[in-house]
Amino acid sequence: MAKTSNLGYPRIGEQREWKKTIEAFWNGNLDKEQFLQKIKEIRLQHLRKQQQAGLDVIPVGDFSLYDHVLDTSVTFGLIPERFTGNHTDSLTTYYEIARGGKNLVASEMTKWYNTNYHYIVPELEGQTPRLVENRALALYLEAKEELGIDGKPVILGPFSFLKLSKGYEAEQFADILSSLIAPYGQLLGELQEAGVKWVQLDEPSLVTTITKEEIGLVKSVYKQLRSQAPDLSIFLQTYFDSVSFYEEVVTFPVNGIGLDFVAGYEENIKQLQNHSFPKDKVLGVGIIDGRNIWKADYKQIVNIVNEIKEIVPSHHIWLQPSCSLLHVPVTIKNEEKLDPTLKAGLAFADEKLQELQDLKEIIDHPDSEHSQQLLKVNEAALKALAQSSWRTEHEQTNDNRITDRAVPFAKRYALQAEKWKLPVLPTTTIGSFPQTAELRKARKSWRLGELSNEEYEALIKEKIQYWVNIQEEIGLDVLVHGEFERTDMVEFFGEKLAGFAFTTNGWVQSYGSRCVKPPVIYGNVEFIEPMTVKETVYAQSLTDRPVKGMLTGPVTILNWSFVRNDLPRKEVAFQIADALIQEVQALEAAGIEMIQVDEPALREGLPLKKENWDDYLQWAVTAFRIATAAVANTTQIHTHMCYSEFGDILPAIHALDADVISIETSRSHGELIQDFEHVGFDKGIGLGVYDIHSPRVPSQEEIEQVIHRALSVLPANLFWVNPDCGLKTRGEAETVAALKNMVQAANKYRCLT
Ligand code: GLN
Ligand code: ZN
Repeated sequence: MAKTSNLGYPRIGEQREWKKTIEAFWNGNLDKEQFLQKIKEIRLQHLRKQQQAGLDVIPVGDFSLYDHVLDTSVTFGLIPERFTGNHTDSLTTYYEIARGGKNLVASEMTKWYNTNYHYIVPELEGQTPRLVENRALALYLEAKEELGIDGKPVILGPFSFLKLSKGYEAEQFADILSSLIAPYGQLLGELQEAGVKWVQLDEPSLVTTITKEEIGLVKSVYKQLRSQAPDLSIFLQTYFDSVSFYEEVVTFPVNGIGLDFVAGYEENIKQLQNHSFPKDKVLGVGIIDGRNIWKADYKQIVNIVNEIKEIVPSHHIWLQPSCSLLHVPVTIKNEEKLDPTLKAGLAFADEKLQELQDLKEIIDHPDSEHSQQLLKVNEAALKALAQSSWRTEHEQTNDNRITDRAVPFAKRYALQAEKWKLPVLPTTTIGSFPQTAELRKARKSWRLGELSNEEYEALIKEKIQYWVNIQEEIGLDVLVHGEFERTDMVEFFGEKLAGFAFTTNGWVQSYGSRCVKPPVIYGNVEFIEPMTVKETVYAQSLTDRPVKGMLTGPVTILNWSFVRNDLPRKEVAFQIADALIQEVQALEAAGIEMIQVDEPALREGLPLKKENWDDYLQWAVTAFRIATAAVANTTQIHTHMCYSEFGDILPAIHALDADVISIETSRSHGELIQDFEHVGFDKGIGLGVYDIHSPRVPSQEEIEQVIHRALSVLPANLFWVNPDCGLKTRGEAETVAALKNMVQAANKYRCLT
C-alpha cells in the first residue's frame, strides 16, 4: 500500500485571510494577541483541510508568518546585527528583518530557485548559529494537541539554507556548513524526544549545478545529523528538477528521499532505472505538479508509478506533489466565472490533495469499480479540454516565422539615425508614468460598469496629454504615452489576446503578504485586434517628437503566467510572439516606428541546471525575434530588462538583436558596465542612470558620473540615457525633478562629446 504525503500547503487562505490578518496587524488594527490567535486559527484550518482530505502524512511547520527561509534564520538565531539592538519582542524583530524598520534597512529579498516566490536572504556575517527557537517542534506539538495530527515537521535543510544565504566567502562554505550541524542536530534531537516519526529536510539545492566536493560535504553533514537523532526518520526532499549525483544521494544515511517526477521526470526515472533504489528507504514520488494548475493525468501517472513499482515496493512509495503547494492557488471551488470545461481541467492545492487520494485508490485497487470510475471522470475532463476549440482551432504551425531583421544592426542603426535625427545620448524613459489613486479608482469603477467606456477613455487621454506636455517641457527626446490604461504589464495583454483566462481567486504568494494572480494560458494564443495602437497614436498626435510604442515581450508573458502543459513552453512562447508581431506591425502601420518590447522576466525562466541554459535561452531569444524581426529597417526596436543580474546572459541579450536595450543597473553598476565591455556589446544601450525604486531625487552630478563611467567603456553613439525602470509607482513631483536632472546631465555631456 502506497502512502500519500504533502510537502507544504499554501499559507494565504481561500480568501487571502492570512494576508489580510498580517496586514491588519502591521496597520495596528489587531494587537499581537489577537493577531497570533487569528493566525493560529488559519494555521489549524489548513491542517484540518489536509486531514479531511485523508492524507497519510501531513506537513507541519511549513506555515509561516512571512517566509520559511526567514523562519530558519530566526530558528538558528541568525539575526543581522542591526536588528538586535532596541527591543526584545521577537515578532517585531522578525517583521523588521523582512520589511525594514525605522532607520533599519530590510534584509534583501530574492527569488526562491526558479519560482516567483521570494525569500528573505539570510545574512550570516560571522554569526554563530545556535538553536534559539524550535518552531518545528512547537508546531508539531500544536497540531498533535489541537487536532490529533502526528505531523511531519518540514525544515529547510542545512545545505540549501547555506546556499541561499549571503555574508560569507566561498572558502568558508565548508566551515559554516559544519557549524550548522550542532544546532540542526539539536533541533532534530528535540523532535525525536517529542516522539516525531518523520521529519522532512528540504534540500532543493541538490537539484542545481553542484560539485562532487559539495555532495561529499553534504553527505558527511547528514551522517552527523543522523547520529544526533538516530531514531528519527529523516526524509530528504528535493524538488524543482532532477537530483544531481543521484548515486551518491541515495547512499545518504536517511530514511526517505523525495524526487520530483514532474520537473525532473526524465532524468530522475532514468537514474532510478539505471541505478535502482536502496531497499531500506522510502521513495517520495513527486507526481502531482506543484508548480502548475492543471488537473493531473491519472492514466499517465499510474503508468509512471507502475514503472517505479518495479524498482521500489508499494509500501515504500509515498505519493506526493512534486514540491510544496505554496506555488499554486488554494482552491478552484470558488471560481464561478470560469468556463466549465476549463474549470474541470484545473486543480489547485485542495484539488491536488484529492488527486493524491484518488491515485492511491487507483494504484492500490486498480480493478475496483471506484478506481475505474475515477479514471473515467479524469479522462473525460482532460479530453474535453484537449478537444475544445481553444486548443484545436487555429493551431499555429507556422514554419515561415521571420526571425531575422532584413539588414544587420550597424546598417539599420545608420538608417534609423538618419530618419530620427536624434542628438547623441538621446534621453527617454521606460514606459510608465505615475499612476494616481484617482486613476486606480476610476479604473475600478469602470471595471464595475459605474464609469462608461467613454468616460474612462477620456480620463486616460487626459493623462496622456498631461504627461506628453510634461515630457516635452522636460526636454526628453523620445516620449512615451505613459501606460495609464494598464495595471499590470502581463494582465493587460492577456485580457486582449485569445487563449488567456483570469481567475477570481487564483492568488499565490509572491513575497511576504504580497500575492499575485497569474493569468492562465489555456488555449492557443492569438491576436484579436490592436491592443496599444489607439493610445500610442493619440500620444503621437500631440507631439512632433517620436513616441515609443510599449509592449510586453513573449517570454515575460510566458514566465509570469500559468502555462498550458500539453504543449512545450517554447511553442506557447512562439504563439505569443506570433500574436505580438501583429501588434508591432499594427503600430508600425499607424506610424509608430519606435517600439519597445519589454522582457524583464527573460532571466527568470532559466533552468536550475546550467547545462540546460542554452536550450532555454535559444528558444527564448527566438521568441523575442519572432515578435520583433519583421519590421522595416528604419523601425527601431527597443527592449527593456530589470529585476535581475544580467552579466551571465549578455550573449543572449545581444542575440535578441534589439536596436536599443535599456537595462537596470543601479544595483550592480560598475560590474554590469564592465560586462558589457567584455562582451563587446555593439547595439544601442540605455544603462539606467538612476534608481527608480526610491523616491530620492538623484542630483545632476550623480547622473553625470554614471554617464561618465559608462562612456569610458561604451561608444557614445550607442549610448542612451534613461532611468532604471518604469515610473508607475513614483510620485509626480519626484519623477519630474529626477528626469529634469537626467536631461540636464545628458545635455552637459553632449556639449563635451
Ligand atoms: N514598460 C514597463 C513600465 O515602464 C516596464 C516594466 C518593467 O520593466 N517591469 O512600467
Ligand atoms: Zn523594468
